[in-house]
Amino acid sequence: MDISKNEITAFANAGISASLSPRGATAMPSISVVAPAYNEQEVLGEFHRRVTEVLAGLGCDYEIVLVNDGSRDNTLALMHALRERDPHVTVVDLSRNFGKEIALSAGLDHTKGEVVVILDSDLQDPPELIPEMLASWRLGYDVVYGVRTQRDGETWFKKLTAKYFYRLIKKISRVNIPTDTGDFRLMTRRAVDAVGKLREEHRFMKGLFAWIGFPSIPVFYRRDPRAAGTTTWNYWNLWNFALEGITSFTVAPLKVATYLGLSVAVLALLYAAFVVWKALMFSDPVQGYPSLMAAMLFLGGVQLISIGLLGEYVGRIFNEVKQRPLYLVNRLLGSDLRDARLPDSGKTP
Ligand code: UDP
Ligand code: MG
Repeated sequence: MDISKNEITAFANAGISASLSPRGATAMPSISVVAPAYNEQEVLGEFHRRVTEVLAGLGCDYEIVLVNDGSRDNTLALMHALRERDPHVTVVDLSRNFGKEIALSAGLDHTKGEVVVILDSDLQDPPELIPEMLASWRLGYDVVYGVRTQRDGETWFKKLTAKYFYRLIKKISRVNIPTDTGDFRLMTRRAVDAVGKLREEHRFMKGLFAWIGFPSIPVFYRRDPRAAGTTTWNYWNLWNFALEGITSFTVAPLKVATYLGLSVAVLALLYAAFVVWKALMFSDPVQGYPSLMAAMLFLGGVQLISIGLLGEYVGRIFNEVKQRPLYLVNRLLGSDLRDARLPDSGKTP
C-alpha cells in the first residue's frame, strides 16, 4: 500500500489533536478537590469557603477531600465542623504525620470524582482557576498543571536553587518534569488511578505526575503567599527534596563514580610514568610527602562520597523492599459524592 507523503503530513499536523479525546463544550464532570493539611487551622475555614464558592458556582457535583496529616492544632476539629455543616466534605484523618507527599496520595486514593483538582490548603493555589482548567479538560487533556509565573513571598535563594534543580533533573533523567510546577493540577480519573498505582515509599510527586504521561497542558498562574500560618519548609528539607528527586528518577550519580575513578586511575598511571622517566633522565630524587598527602586525601574524599552516594540508593532500596503500606487512616468520613469508578455511577437525571 502506498501512503503518500501528503497523507502522512496531514496526520502529523493533526497529531496533537489526534491524541486528545474532546469532551464537549458544555460537559460537566463531578469534581473532587484534594487538599492535605498540617496545622492549618487558621486558613482551612477560608479555604473551604473559597473552594465552595467556585465549585457551587459551576453547578456540578463535587466533593472536597481534606486530609489531616497528624496536625497538632485544631485542624481536625475544624474539619469535622466543616463536614458537619457540609456533606460535600470528606475527612481523611491519618494516624500520624506522614508528610505532604503521602498525605496527598492518601487524599487522591479517597477521591470519587471524574475529575480531581489538587490544591494546597494554605490557599497558595487559587481555586478560582478551576473553571479555566476545566476548559482545557473539555479539549481532551488528562492533566492540566499549574505553572507559577511569579513566586511571591519566597527568598531569591529558594527561587535560584529551584530553577537550577529543575534544569539539572531535566538533563539527567528521562522523565520531563515541567519547570515551576508544584502539585497544583487537575487530573482525570484515569490519570489519578495511574498515579495511585505507583506505590513507592519515596514519593517525589512531581516526578510521579510526570511519569504517567497522558496529554498534558500548563495553565499559568500567580502563586500567592501563604494566607496565614507558616511554611514547614527549610533549606535542609529542600536539600533532601532535591536528593529524593534525583535518586527517585535517575541512577546517573552512580555512574559518576565509575568515570571519576577511571579518569583518576588513568591520570595516576601517566603521572607514575612521568616520575619514572624523570628519575631515569635526571636521576631526580622523588619528592614524596606533599604530593602523596594531596593524592591520598583527594582519593579518600572521592571514595567516601561515592560510598555515600551508594548508600543513598541502598537506603532507598531498604525502605522500598519493606513494602509497608504508605499510610494508615485513623478515621474516614466520606462525602456524599457518587464514586466515578463504580459501574452503576453516573449523574442522577
Ligand atoms: N502539609 C502536609 N503535611 C506536612 C507538611 C505540609 O499535609 O507534613 C501540607 C500543608 O498543610 C499545605 C501543603 O502541604 O497544605 C504545603 O505545605 P507548605 O505550605 O508548608 O509548603 P510550601 O507551600 O511552602 O511548599
Ligand atoms: Mg504552602
